Amino acid sequence: MERQAGSNIDFNNIIVARTNVLHDIQGDKIACPKGTILIGCSDGDRFWDMYNHHCEICNHTRNHPLSLNGGALLISKRSPIRGARADGNTLLRHAHLAVSKKGFRTIILYVHTPCLVANTYDLDFLEVLRLLIEAKMRLRSCRGMSEVKMYCFFHVDYEHKKRTYFVARDPAIEFLASHGRPVREQ
Ligand SMILES: [Zn+2]
Repeated sequence: MERQAGSNIDFNNIIVARTNVLHDIQGDKIACPKGTILIGCSDGDRFWDMYNHHCEICNHTRNHPLSLNGGALLISKRSPIRGARADGNTLLRHAHLAVSKKGFRTIILYVHTPCLVANTYDLDFLEVLRLLIEAKMRLRSCRGMSEVKMYCFFHVDYEHKKRTYFVARDPAIEFLASHGRPVREQ
C-alpha cells in the first residue's frame, strides 16, 4: 500500500516514553458510559485502524468524531500549524456543542505518528506530545468542560504493527520538561 505520510518515527524517544508516559490501554479504565467525543487527525491511511480500535477500547460505538488534518495538534494556543488558531477554535466549539447538546461526558484527544501535518511542520515526537498535553489543558479550561472526562491517546504506526497508547499526563509533563520542552500556559 502506498503510504501518504513520512515514516520517520522517533523510536528512541518512544522507547523511553514507554517506561512511564505511554501505556497500553486498559479499556475498563476509560470512563465513557455515554460514548465519546473523539478529536483526531483525519489521516485516511490510519483513521480506520484508529477508529476501530477506539470502539474496542471504549466498548462503545456511540462516538462523535471531530476530525481535521492534525487533529489535537490544532488546539494548543502555541500550535505552529497554519490555521490552527481558527481550526482549534472550531474543534473546541464543536466539542462544546456535543457536550452540551448531545450529552457526551468523555473526550478523547488523539495524535499519531507518523503524521503528515507533524512532518510538514517538523514536529518531532516531543513536540507532538507537548501539543497533545497542551490541547488537554486548553480544553479543560473551556466553559462547560470541568465535569468532562478527558484522555490523551497516542497512535503509533510502526509499519509492521499499529498501537494506541494512553498518555499519562503528569509523567508526560515531567518527561517533556526534562527534555527541554516544558508545557506552556494555555
Ligand atoms: Zn495526521
